[in-house]
Amino acid sequence: MRSINRSMVLDVVREKGPVSKAEIARITGLSQATVGAIVPSLIERGFVCEGAPVVSGLGRPPTLLELDRDSYTVVGLKLMEGNIVGAVTDLEARTLGHVEAPLSDLDPTSVTEAAAGVVDELLVVSGLGRERLLGVGIGLAGVIDTDRGICRSSPFLGWTDVPIAELVEARLGLPTRVDNDTNTLALAERWFGVGQKSDDFILVTLGRGIGLSVVVGGSVYRGAHGGAGEFGHTVMSDGDALCSCGNRGCLESTIGEPALVRNAQELCSRLGIPGPSTPAELYAEAPLVPELADLMSRSGRLLGRAIGNLINLLAPELVVLSGEGVDAGEPLLGAVRSELAAHVHEGLRDSYELVVEPLTGEAWARGAASLILNAVFESPTRARSSPLWDWETAQ
Ligand SMILES: [Zn+2]
Repeated sequence: MRSINRSMVLDVVREKGPVSKAEIARITGLSQATVGAIVPSLIERGFVCEGAPVVSGLGRPPTLLELDRDSYTVVGLKLMEGNIVGAVTDLEARTLGHVEAPLSDLDPTSVTEAAAGVVDELLVVSGLGRERLLGVGIGLAGVIDTDRGICRSSPFLGWTDVPIAELVEARLGLPTRVDNDTNTLALAERWFGVGQKSDDFILVTLGRGIGLSVVVGGSVYRGAHGGAGEFGHTVMSDGDALCSCGNRGCLESTIGEPALVRNAQELCSRLGIPGPSTPAELYAEAPLVPELADLMSRSGRLLGRAIGNLINLLAPELVVLSGEGVDAGEPLLGAVRSELAAHVHEGLRDSYELVVEPLTGEAWARGAASLILNAVFESPTRARSSPLWDWETAQ
């Protein structure tokens, strides 16, 4: 009970601060005495600080409480095929620094060593000591059992049932969590971005793969054993290009960035013009070459239809479209919008908002850091994995 109340108070301070104890009691429904008993422990742990009293005229001015966002740091690591991107953030997920390191060897022991090296470098960048670091979040593409910290399957790393959270935790001596990378982006949105205003939203990422995270009642829906959201492997047609999963006609093998570039190259070679060799080149050329614009628009229609099916299935309040692929711009995004307008069920058409969120360089790593921030701020009633630490004994 005490931990639930503490979590409620911390969440109100995070969301509404600067805020008075009386206001916290009003919002949480807790008594002023209960709030008064909890606040000192939050101040002692360094999560909350007292701001300057507000001069309000009559009577004793209330002391306002706010999140002491500089008191701790968290680290996020995004594992990719050829490198690790790491970011260190404060308690509001503001990036204090980021580093990138090559990943030449993909076996779990080497990746653990590389991750430890990145964390050491980030500690130097942040200028804050190791004792201020709350934990390490790891994001990667694949089927992840977050509760047990296991990567069940990641084709791009060639991993099956790798206890990566345990390996990194044992190496660094710091609480470590792992999740699917799209889920980590959704958590960053849920706590610090557009998702703050919605408890029920979906986030779709477009890039090398097509990712999905479903947030239900403020928590990421992960399925019974992790792995929910393999939207990219929704089979959309027969007989198309072979997917990395072994099937044909998956959304990802049709409109993922490697497929887009391959299709553009084939098209350009038929037209006798030089084709793009990277997604960035394709996105720059598409608005200038009608045939490429048409390819992007056909891809956007397919994506729009697939997202429309999700909206009909889940009735989210918000649809966040993100990932490197949103740099494709209007030829693709315009087609997504028009397809949604045509295919979302009549009764749901006015009940969702589509938000396009381009990614900054370290966004994935910042998302991974949000995995630890989620563990700090999430109510114990919602959490499925064990808490980061024991409040009663931790220093
Ligand atoms: Zn597939």
